Amino acid sequence: MNDNELSVFNYGVKIIHDPIRNKGTAFTEADREALNLTGLLPPRVHSPAEQELRVLGNIRNQPTDLDRYLYLISLQDRNETLFYRVVMNNIEEMMPLIYTPTVGAACQAFQHVFRRPRGFYVSARDRGNIKKILQNWPHKDARIIVITDGERILGLGDLGVQGMGIPIGKLSLYTACAGIHPKHCLPVMFDVGTNNESLLNDPLYNGLEQRRIRGEKYDALLDEFIEAAREVFPGILIQFEDFGNTNAFRLLDKYRNKLNCFNDDIQGTGAVALSGIMGAMRITGEKLADQRLLFLGAGEAGIGTADAFVAALVDDGMSVEEARGKCWFVDTQGLLTSDRDHIADHKQRFARENPPITDFTEAVNTLKPTAILGLSGQPGSFPKEVIEAMAKINKRPIIFALSNPTSKAECTAEEAYRWSKGRAIFASGSPFDAVKFGNNTHVPGQGNNVYIFPGVGLGAIVSGARVVTDEMFLAASYSLANQVSEADLSRGSVYPPLNKIREVCALIAYEVAKIAWDKGLTDLEEPEDIMAEIRKAMYLPVYPHYA
Ligand code: NAD
Repeated sequence: MNDNELSVFNYGVKIIHDPIRNKGTAFTEADREALNLTGLLPPRVHSPAEQELRVLGNIRNQPTDLDRYLYLISLQDRNETLFYRVVMNNIEEMMPLIYTPTVGAACQAFQHVFRRPRGFYVSARDRGNIKKILQNWPHKDARIIVITDGERILGLGDLGVQGMGIPIGKLSLYTACAGIHPKHCLPVMFDVGTNNESLLNDPLYNGLEQRRIRGEKYDALLDEFIEAAREVFPGILIQFEDFGNTNAFRLLDKYRNKLNCFNDDIQGTGAVALSGIMGAMRITGEKLADQRLLFLGAGEAGIGTADAFVAALVDDGMSVEEARGKCWFVDTQGLLTSDRDHIADHKQRFARENPPITDFTEAVNTLKPTAILGLSGQPGSFPKEVIEAMAKINKRPIIFALSNPTSKAECTAEEAYRWSKGRAIFASGSPFDAVKFGNNTHVPGQGNNVYIFPGVGLGAIVSGARVVTDEMFLAASYSLANQVSEADLSRGSVYPPLNKIREVCALIAYEVAKIAWDKGLTDLEEPEDIMAEIRKAMYLPVYPHYA
């Protein structure tokens, strides 16, 4: 074999082992001939549809959801086209596996189930060297980073480096839902240590064996990473994900006007929850302006949602003060009142002059909210007496148990419907099955930021937006709310079904891109047809032809 032949042979073998270009048993005979693969694959050529059938059979035969997750990840490592075909064609079945709730279990078990690395790890040890190591990333055209430091993984707390499952899962959804090509996606674990004692004592833990760095050292390391990422991948969009709330609000304030970035837990959750409330208004016939929201949890997701709600009311002509007055918070210390000794910056604007209330049920009975929103990560914190009180106060109480994963939901769908005698308008962060109550079957909507972030990201990327603004999130929220059909509402769902997610994302992307061009937030020339440009950018899981 001469050198030339050897390189053709290597090329074929490289393609089989490159998950983006591999076709597995779907390499045609002509492909096999052209790439010198004949003999290296079983002889029968399968169609993508047949491959999908095999994969589905294998997934359904696995004993647990974690095994299904691992099977899917290993498919992603072998053949991304087939992985995305399976995920996109079966989104309602696959999303709970590659995302919440199963991704939570995968993060918790990361040190035991680790097989092949995926994504990029930057640690406190890389200080001074980050630009150099970023060049090790094999795809030179990365356009979006999802980064976490693992401090607040779902409602599971500090999982350190084990939180890597989250950026990986979120970026898989970017591809599946919004059609961002896998080669443009860069999941990043920003490992600054962990304060999780059991991980620190675990010899199998894969992250830095040290407690979290904080303060200036943390900031300098993150600055270095962001600067390096923007040099190596010009124009890259950065999504902050599952940071602890002391860093999350601070970092968003620091970077939001300087670079194209957003915080999904604050802004994405805000937009999706607001959209759900707007959907509920279509069921009740009430006005947004007449709502009183009581939040359990005053962190990123709770405050982000209240800010989004306030933005919508202000957009409708209400003053900021009046709009804020419609939001009440209960956190670990009870009702958020202004007489507390210390109130974190992000909570200040919602602290109220009010006698203290320590108990959530008492807060419901005293404040008589139209909606309760659980963003506390505390399972069972909407007990029977809370739901019954809500049902007594309201004809159609809005009950959103938005904490993830499922095990952390404030109440289950079944509890909300049963205890409210079928009157609750319910949504949850992780999926719940439909519930039959009386003669009705209620289909709970999934109030999860997956309805928002992929479309926002796609719009920002296609338009080349220099920043991602709150106006874009508000527009995303309106767009999502408009895509809920009467049929969805009549089933009790305030979100469109997940199998419409590609269209949801395309329409949200349009709104975001339009704002970027209308407000002069991009240097790219506006295309004649923004929607066509967005659709053209959306990846489809179709194999390449080699011959
Ligand atoms: P966070 O740590 O910023 O905030 C948690 C808040 O809950 C804090 O204010 C804390 O004081 C409060 N809290 C904790 N225990 C409490 C208790 N026993 N009683 C009352 N309040 C209590 O976290 P976050 O980012 O706001 O996330 C909170 C939850 O929301 C998590 O479970 C997360 O998975 C979920 N979440 C859901 C979505 C979604 O799309 N559905 C998006 C983001 C976050």
